Amino acid sequence: MQIKINNPKCCSEKPVIQLTAGEKLCKNHFNEYFENKVFRTIRQFDLLGKEENLGVAISGGKDSLTVLYLLNKLSKQNPKIKVTAIAIDEGIEGYRDKTLITAKKFCNENNIRLNVFSYKEEFGLTLDEMLKILDVKPCSICGVFRRYLLNKKSRELKFTKLATGHNLDDECQSILMNQMKNNIEASARLGPKVGVISDDKFAQRIKPLYLCTEKEVTTYAFINSLLDNFNECPNAIHSFRAHVRDMLNDMEKKFSGTKYSIVNSFLETLPMLKEKFRGEIIQICSKCGEPSANDSCRACVYLEKLRKSVMH
Ligand code: SF4
Ligand code: ZN
Repeated sequence: MQIKINNPKCCSEKPVIQLTAGEKLCKNHFNEYFENKVFRTIRQFDLLGKEENLGVAISGGKDSLTVLYLLNKLSKQNPKIKVTAIAIDEGIEGYRDKTLITAKKFCNENNIRLNVFSYKEEFGLTLDEMLKILDVKPCSICGVFRRYLLNKKSRELKFTKLATGHNLDDECQSILMNQMKNNIEASARLGPKVGVISDDKFAQRIKPLYLCTEKEVTTYAFINSLLDNFNECPNAIHSFRAHVRDMLNDMEKKFSGTKYSIVNSFLETLPMLKEKFRGEIIQICSKCGEPSANDSCRACVYLEKLRKSVMH
């Protein structure tokens, strides 16, 4: 499952980007190159069936709006692909409130149905409030609750698949983070298509931007005016991911093609990883009934800690 990068051709118009392989592309040729790459990824990794009730997880950021924009475009050409957006409001003041305004505006303008679910309504507390109570890494607790809600709500909304805006840089970071944390089992759950459709407890996830670099997605979102401003979560700066991202960007600058090489070699080993961890038994959380690796799922463990801390 190797990544193939075609050499795109361009004209004499003003370039908007220089690709990893060195080519400079104008707006029209870059749009053509980028959209072809996404639609080829969908075909190459068999991300979509003939008929889908597709959920698209959006944050209001460039990656998720790009994937929603392109999948919506695809659904207009193919009425059997139905697209609905889903957003999670973690409750991060000064950040998520702003990106959700962008998400709502985008969905209104493009006539896409949007469902928003919040930590406050679902768990009783915003992420900001949780972080005042528990001394934990923001992204760990945030990620656990977001995955939990996305999985549960995707099932309730009867999505056949859930598309996310993960790009090549995100995947590269996750691969290295799992290596650095000796968590190879988590890498078995990476790749452009995750989960099995026949499992009614897990929503199958797809990543149509899998082969697009962060730079390409940012350029596409910007030149097509998909959003007005770029926001970053205030908690991101403290994350392990941010360190890995900076390191990878530094390597890419010095050794062009590093990110493609990492993802390419990972794709070679992914079938073996999936085979090795295929037999892992997924239990059902005894408290909430959601899938879990242990008797209680990680969301319920955090909720219990929050309850105990509030009571003390
Ligand atoms: Fe949550 Fe961390 Fe992402 Fe902020 S950066 S939204 S805290 S996972
Ligand atoms: Zn649970």
